[in-house]
Amino acid sequence: MHSAPAPASDFRSDTVTRPTPAMRAVMAAAAVGDDVMGDDPCVNALQAVAAERLGFEAALFMPSGTQANLVGLMAHCGRGDEAIVGQNWHTYRWEAGGMAVVGSIQPQPLPHQSDGTLALEDIRAAIKPDDPHLARTRLVVMENTHGGRVLPLAYLRSVRALAQEQGLATHLDGARLLNAAVAEAALEERDVWEAARDICACFDSVSVCLSKGLGAPVGSLLLGSRDFMARALRIRKLLGGGMRQAGILAAAGLHALDHHVERLALDHALAARLASALAAAAASNPALQGRFAVVSAHTNMVFTETPASLGDALLAHLDAAGVLTTGSLYGGSTRLRWVAHLDVGPDDVARAAAAIAAFTGSAPA
Ligand SMILES: *Cc1c(COP(=O)(O)O)cnc(C)c1O
Repeated sequence: MHSAPAPASDFRSDTVTRPTPAMRAVMAAAAVGDDVMGDDPCVNALQAVAAERLGFEAALFMPSGTQANLVGLMAHCGRGDEAIVGQNWHTYRWEAGGMAVVGSIQPQPLPHQSDGTLALEDIRAAIKPDDPHLARTRLVVMENTHGGRVLPLAYLRSVRALAQEQGLATHLDGARLLNAAVAEAALEERDVWEAARDICACFDSVSVCLSKGLGAPVGSLLLGSRDFMARALRIRKLLGGGMRQAGILAAAGLHALDHHVERLALDHALAARLASALAAAAASNPALQGRFAVVSAHTNMVFTETPASLGDALLAHLDAAGVLTTGSLYGGSTRLRWVAHLDVGPDDVARAAAAIAAFTGSAPA
């Protein structure tokens, strides 16, 4: 056994979650077979359970969300076809250009509205007419949650209606679909899976990450119709995503779907608590008064902004205090992203707030 790293309060991402003892136990005991031959009972069970709960005919287990999205886009679009995306969608910005590089799909990126959505009129205007000079627009891609924000269901239904009217397919990058479903279910006091199915009903295909807030070590799912999944299966093979005794991983995913979905509400509550604790700590600190703002706090993510001149010192100070976040430049500000998940709790919030309160404006010596 290698030794555990020193415990930090790790708010960098919900991907840092480690499998719980109960999850490790089901992984160790998982019945397995060769999934490329269709023989792995845990993979088959995971795919069947996810498809049923999310209202699709079929699902396919993948090593990563990036691959689930790429396979989905390639199953919709052929060489030279076009997909409409958001400038900041993961599928466009954060997947190494895979749709273009590997899929020969032309992305048509659109700017975002302040709530993260793409304006319907922008989508409509981007759809190309049938003309041999132009790429063929085939697909509209959405992302939910995006930067922690839930895209409103009424909006997704309008996107669906527009796509149908224009003969386009729709794909959802639902890496954090269940965070969106948990947030919507809480507002309306209804079943999480029912809320998730309502979102999924707006799309021909959906990808979902098991390895983020759901806490599995590895894996994502692509969901869609049986015919779509037959195409996806060949593309997954082409990309090298066929895994053999993958049931060890699928068992973790099944455990996550059974035990880690409703609890996402705890992450959302913790993020809200973190947002107010950070704001209060900054307000009490002369070095940060008026220079530290919580700019967004939705589902399990909080974003804060500090003048860029303080950014490096603040990150170094937090790091020295054992508080990990990710920072990026955003206009003239350093934007920090704080993500709540299974492996952080109230003590980590207190530690983060104490570190913000103790920041002197310079990096530790
Ligand atoms: C994390 C993420 C993915 C996929 O990420 P992998 O690291 O490849 O599993 C896709 N879309 C969004 C929005 C994500 O946050």
